Amino acid sequence: MTILEPEAGAWRPVHKFGGSSLADAACFHRVAGIIHNLHQPDALIVVSAPGKTTNRLIELLGLFASGDTAAPEALAGLHAFQRNLIETSLPEAEAAPLLAALNDDIVTIARVLEHSRLDEVQRSFIQSFGEVWSSRLLAQVLRHQGLAADSLDARRFLRVTGTPVRVQEEASRRLLADILARHGQQILVVTGFIAADDDGNTRLLGRNGSDFSATLLAALADSTHTTIWSDVPGVFSADPRRIPEAHLLKRLALPEAAELARLGSPVLHSRTLGPVAASRQQLMLRCSYHPDDGHTRIERKPRREQGARIVTAVDDTVLVEMTISDRYQERVDALTEWLTKRELAPLACKRRPDRKLWQIAYTREQAEQAFLLLRDHQPAGGFEGLQQRDGFSLVALVGKNVTAQAEQCLQFYHALNEQPLEFVQPAKNGLSLVGVVRKTSLDPLLLRLHQSLFSRPRRVGVLLFGRGNIGQAWLRLYKEQKARLEQELNLRLTLYGVFDSRGAMLASQGLEVDQVLNAFEPRSLVWPDWLESLEEHGFDTMVALDCTASDSLVQYYPALVQQHIHLIAANKQAGAASRDVYAGLKQALAEHRVKFLSNATVGAGLPVQSSLHQLRQSGEQIRAISGIFSGSLSWLFQHFDGSRPFSELVQQAWQQGLTEPDPREDLNGQDVKRKLVILAREAGFDLDPEQVQVASLVPEELAALDKAEALEHLHRLDGMLAERLAEAQQQGGVLRHVARFHADSGAASVGLEVVPANHPFVPLRPGDNVFAIETRHYRQNPMVIQGPGAGREVTAAAVQADLWQLLAAL
Ligand code: ASP
Ligand code: MG
Repeated sequence: MTILEPEAGAWRPVHKFGGSSLADAACFHRVAGIIHNLHQPDALIVVSAPGKTTNRLIELLGLFASGDTAAPEALAGLHAFQRNLIETSLPEAEAAPLLAALNDDIVTIARVLEHSRLDEVQRSFIQSFGEVWSSRLLAQVLRHQGLAADSLDARRFLRVTGTPVRVQEEASRRLLADILARHGQQILVVTGFIAADDDGNTRLLGRNGSDFSATLLAALADSTHTTIWSDVPGVFSADPRRIPEAHLLKRLALPEAAELARLGSPVLHSRTLGPVAASRQQLMLRCSYHPDDGHTRIERKPRREQGARIVTAVDDTVLVEMTISDRYQERVDALTEWLTKRELAPLACKRRPDRKLWQIAYTREQAEQAFLLLRDHQPAGGFEGLQQRDGFSLVALVGKNVTAQAEQCLQFYHALNEQPLEFVQPAKNGLSLVGVVRKTSLDPLLLRLHQSLFSRPRRVGVLLFGRGNIGQAWLRLYKEQKARLEQELNLRLTLYGVFDSRGAMLASQGLEVDQVLNAFEPRSLVWPDWLESLEEHGFDTMVALDCTASDSLVQYYPALVQQHIHLIAANKQAGAASRDVYAGLKQALAEHRVKFLSNATVGAGLPVQSSLHQLRQSGEQIRAISGIFSGSLSWLFQHFDGSRPFSELVQQAWQQGLTEPDPREDLNGQDVKRKLVILAREAGFDLDPEQVQVASLVPEELAALDKAEALEHLHRLDGMLAERLAEAQQQGGVLRHVARFHADSGAASVGLEVVPANHPFVPLRPGDNVFAIETRHYRQNPMVIQGPGAGREVTAAAVQADLWQLLAAL
């Protein structure tokens, strides 16, 4: 294809959306949203038929051909599906003209199907409607969103000839240029898959041909950028549905991509890359469902590194075999060329001149076509004994010069040797090493190959916020546990940055724990700039630990989430934030698939949140949560028996560091309220902090004082508490500071209660927390979790456990 000189800058970008990206109204709107966000008013959008429409059309042809009585019903079903798609995608008035056009199309289809035998042109004509419907509908949805858009039937410019079809470039280019000139600042939604010959007959580009349409259109329009949007973000090191640890390849060289496509990859189709190689377009693969999930860029410049990058497989492989008695080499070469010309280049082939045998491997679909062609070619082709043998699978490594990598080849042979092997074939161009084995379950083999070739440790960057009690305790724990974590989870951990209120120390090579603990020299930084610079951090995964109590850091959580940074918090501010803030955070987390763990916020190291999770996962319904959630209040009421005034106990607890620096923070119940909100949310309920009834122990006149004065006037607590104690004693009960949440009524409260002396909240060690969880099955006898619920070591341990759990789940 000739390359035109670019006039200026980028040329109409091309985006292609496949059938799975256009499966229903929600999909059409998602795609329209993507196009909207592109801000490319002259984009060329190529579409496939909605969902499985092409398959349905082909089925329809089959039913009519065989005179099946279900045929009219199939046509009605197709009509209903498209009608519903239009009606659910657009408001009535805008849907009307599309529905009318659809009606006409259905009438036309029915009329064509009346013919007793359809020729190829008629069959193609029927199959073309899927793409026509897609382009019409998407253009209208775009207009509905206020964009200037129109649909364009590719038969108006894409001229082809011959079988299999060849593109008439000059004619097509001229026709297209004409159309584009007339639609300057307009988005054009172009039908994929279809073209026309000189007589205006519909011709198809082959199954899954829309990707080819897209790169072809880009080449004809001299576009600089082509993006193919589908339901996967690109090319992985192996099929991620089979090998969960497969990683996305951000870049793939064109020859590697072509080899992968040749080997039957469903992500890249062979013909797609032809126009890419022959033009200046940059090809990119992305996912329409999760545009944030990364992409694969197909690069023109060759890679420096060599070796395998992808393990690929064709589960159902068929061998076509024949015997060639004379001029073996010559005939094999001629046949290979003959098949390639007919777009049936073999996936792999084995020459066995000693047995006069030639074996060629195909996907089942190709094998059937090749077999029929070869059968007709039999006397002229110089071979005999043509046969098809099925029951094989193909496994291959793809990568530049993989055939020259002794170590990788050895690993491949080793793994395959354990299988009933038919043959191994290194590609002449060095780009692949193919093995054909008797059909088995391939997954273990693929997993083994993938592991031995690619399992490099995942690089994890850690950011620590806060160098107070908990932060420091965590740093010591991290130092102690790092090697074990790295080994067991196959990771490389790097302490990338540590922050305190003055600023941060950052090092991409990693900070030493001792330095952070003993020689911390932070420099101040500007948050927005720093966040932006983080985008290039180079780790596979980044995790931020919030060991502060600050609510200003929480404001940056959404920004961190947007950068795909996972969050672990000992800080309660986010988990107990107001309903709107919390819902916003949750949504951002789901959108960017980022995890947020906060097991340290309630009960320190006690497995409270994780137990709630497990209960929910087991299908349990949580009905109530109650308990003593504050270590300081637990300690105070465990000791408060009337022998000493309450204020004296508060003094003592304060001196021993058992309370917050200002003990009123414990006594006013606010901290317990936050924990209750966190637990209720963890249990699946939408509780807002405003809904919790908190009975503060701090009388107003004490609350109004500043901290120093308040400590002098703690005796103001005594009157009310003495009264409450007397009351309790009279009832034969005990005073406890209790938090309660009831799922049915939604009632939530925090405050002093009189509980019977034999209640599970009574026999505690001073300072213990206790949590009682009632569910459908733990009803009469709730699940009780009890133990020390505060302290820097246990809290830091909870942070560390979260880190482990988070990394293990990735
Ligand atoms: N709709 C056509 C097919 O299903 C073309 C495509 O989807 O790429 O084969
Ligand atoms: Mg498709």
